[in-house]
Amino acid sequence: MTTTITSHHFLSTCSVLGSVLDLEGGFKQDKRHHPVLQAACYLIWELKLSQMMRSKNSNKHYFTKMGSRKKVHAFVRVRPTDDFAHEMIKYRDDNKTIDIHLKKDSRRGVVNNQQTDWSFKLDRVLHDASQDLVYETVAKDVVSQALNGFNGTIMCYGQTGAGKTYTMTGATESYKHRGILPRALQQVFKMIEERPTHAITVRVSYLEIYNESLFDLLSTLPYVGPSVTPMTIVENPQGVFIKGLSVHLTSQEEDAFSLLFEGETNRIIASHTMNKNSSRSHCIFTIYVEARSRTLSDEKYVTSKINLVDLAGSERLGKSRSEGRVLKEATYINKSLSFLEQAIIALGDQKRDHIPFRQCKLTHALKDSLGGNCNMVLVTNIYGEAAQLEETLSSLRFASRMKLVTTEPTVNEKYDAERMVRNLEKELALLKQELAIHDSLANRTLVNYDPMDEIQIAEINSQVRRYLEGTLEEIDIINLRQIQEVFNQFRVVLSQQEQEVESTLRRKYTLIDKNDYAAISAVQKAGLVDADGHLVGEPDGQGFGLGVAPFSTKPGKKSKSKKMFKEQLSSSARKEGASSPLSGKDLDVSTSKTQLTPSSKDGDVKDMVVRDRETSNTEPLASDSPKEELRPPRPSTPPAKPVAFEDFKNERGSEINRIFKENKSILNERRKRASETTQRINAIKREIDMTKEALNLQKSLREKQGEYENKGLMIIDEEEFLLILKLKDLKKQYRTEYQDLRDLRAEIQYCQHLVDQCRHRLLTEFDIWYNESFFVPEDLQMAVKPGGSIRPGMMPLSKIVSLGEDDQDRFSQLQQTTLPEGPDSVSFYNAKVKMEQKLPFPTCFPGA
Ligand code: ADP
Ligand code: MG
Repeated sequence: MTTTITSHHFLSTCSVLGSVLDLEGGFKQDKRHHPVLQAACYLIWELKLSQMMRSKNSNKHYFTKMGSRKKVHAFVRVRPTDDFAHEMIKYRDDNKTIDIHLKKDSRRGVVNNQQTDWSFKLDRVLHDASQDLVYETVAKDVVSQALNGFNGTIMCYGQTGAGKTYTMTGATESYKHRGILPRALQQVFKMIEERPTHAITVRVSYLEIYNESLFDLLSTLPYVGPSVTPMTIVENPQGVFIKGLSVHLTSQEEDAFSLLFEGETNRIIASHTMNKNSSRSHCIFTIYVEARSRTLSDEKYVTSKINLVDLAGSERLGKSRSEGRVLKEATYINKSLSFLEQAIIALGDQKRDHIPFRQCKLTHALKDSLGGNCNMVLVTNIYGEAAQLEETLSSLRFASRMKLVTTEPTVNEKYDAERMVRNLEKELALLKQELAIHDSLANRTLVNYDPMDEIQIAEINSQVRRYLEGTLEEIDIINLRQIQEVFNQFRVVLSQQEQEVESTLRRKYTLIDKNDYAAISAVQKAGLVDADGHLVGEPDGQGFGLGVAPFSTKPGKKSKSKKMFKEQLSSSARKEGASSPLSGKDLDVSTSKTQLTPSSKDGDVKDMVVRDRETSNTEPLASDSPKEELRPPRPSTPPAKPVAFEDFKNERGSEINRIFKENKSILNERRKRASETTQRINAIKREIDMTKEALNLQKSLREKQGEYENKGLMIIDEEEFLLILKLKDLKKQYRTEYQDLRDLRAEIQYCQHLVDQCRHRLLTEFDIWYNESFFVPEDLQMAVKPGGSIRPGMMPLSKIVSLGEDDQDRFSQLQQTTLPEGPDSVSFYNAKVKMEQKLPFPTCFPGA
């Protein structure tokens, strides 16, 4: 134990001390946070600490009280007698300790042969105590705590005739000698009267357990129907309850008393009619309290129950003397009380985590009332006569075992859902008013804060779409709900677009799973990917799938390199005398409009020609597929794609393939140049460093030899002068080379872009060619052939190949009637196809 206390310790100490003071009958808990009180606590704490340091014995006592855990209170009540065994039973002055002395010759039976003296320290010995005093000592605190939400259990234990029933119920004929039970009811109703701020309801039930059967002592009341099924003990998260036991709402003391008397009478009647021995049964009278604040419209409320238990006689009946019914009773009682004892021993053992509650009805019914979170009190009733000393000893042992049990009383707080909703609704209304005031003060037009309906949400969705398209500049902020909805709609639009993109891709391309090695190797054979699975011509190892989505770069990023490259291109175009005008848009090769076509092997930019493919629209693909006519007749089964790809590259795709290859070689050449330039730059940098060093050497030599000055000008020798000139020259070279490198890098970036796009185009065209060559019905072949009315790639293949006979007929009809040959029909056809791609195919046809 240390005396150093940190501030953290101090606060927790004070809070613990608060409970100590409370227990000692001093302050109320909620006052302990007062600064003066805290300081006082601190002082008292220090005093107590030094006290504890001095007296080791008291240590345990204080720590016990300081924890939030609480010991069970155990009292002894001695039944008054004229024949008190003064020689054998002695009380100490502390009113807590009881000493038992057994004379040698009276040793017998179960009493230990060796031992003659015992000492039991309990919470109080009640000798010749009035019913009044017993209540004050034993029950008053437990009952008053119950109204604050703490469960309480008061139990009387002892041999038959020792005064358990007298203590618990009292003499029913005398008001003065009434026991704990009626007094507890009185206190509850008195406290309710004193608490007008709370709506408190009281309910009671009275259970008897006899020979392991459950009896409802209040079932005789006219409004309680006869129970059909036997009562059972049920456990749920809220605790343990007896299913089938009647629970009675009592609004006043008198009602509660008449319920008590009803139960008592039933107990006595049953002992005659059912041949039950009343001292052989356990009785549990329960008071259920529920307190809600009237003033605070708090949704929290507290509940509690007080269990008042009159146990069956604890005496052990000699089996030889008992027979029949008595033997059966004795067995049951001995069993249930020894199970109670086992449960108590387990509860008292901190190391035990399993408590055997379910071994008998008594402990099971009291599961949440023994130990646990309740205030618990035991009254052990004993005889004062020498003849009963054996049983008295056994009862006192039980009491001292009970004293080892600790409980952790906690408030049973519950929430009234209905009240909570009402409170929240009130608060909501108030906040809406606040907002209205705020809006009018801020000169805002009336804003609606209600949840949005579908029309409003649709409006926001359209705003978001327009914003994304660029037709709406800004989305005005109105309120939080609207902001959240805007974000929400962004998500909706995004996910829709994602789906659209994916389905478009799936419609157009065959996606290859990267883990599908067979497919990958097929593509590798086709020469589209290298051994690592990267696209050919793709140095940075980006992911690859046949028909990957079009390459996209941020416009801001590519604009610069595009511009520089464009300048070079236009100058070279001028040299070559090319006539096509160049614009940034024209250079966007992702559309099928322009292609860069380097003509020489070294891929110099000046050799590039720019060809505008726009013109090919009027002369459909005349030059695109020079070997088209040479194509062999169509096979019955389509060839494998990798093989077909090779064919494609030699046939219709030859031009694109050539461009693709050439672009790649330009890219590689630029890369080589960039690396050479980098090497040169590094060499220049090294020379600069060396020159700088030499200059520094010259300077330090000059400083050592003494300096020459002429009219304020420094005079330096020729060597130093030449070095300076060299350094200047090197720096100039460095700058030029560096600029070159920057330009080259930009070019590389752009060339890379072109290569990507070419590759994409190659694959796309291949796919179209493949489908059209091997899947399009023969009678449509003409239309897609060069000079045909359908431009390759424009045919919605997936739909055509799935056409039924009728649909194919209709398509031919359409060709004949609505697509006359000639350039004028193209735009009509294009529009038709575009619409068809959006709509389910058959509906596009007139009359379909
Ligand atoms: P138990 O319930 O333990 O079997 P009872 O409470 O029925 O015992 O007591 C037996 C008898 O002793 C009763 O007549 C009761 O009135 C009487 N008695 C018990 N304790 C006291 C007491 N403290 N003062 C007066 N009479 C008592
Ligand atoms: Mg009794």
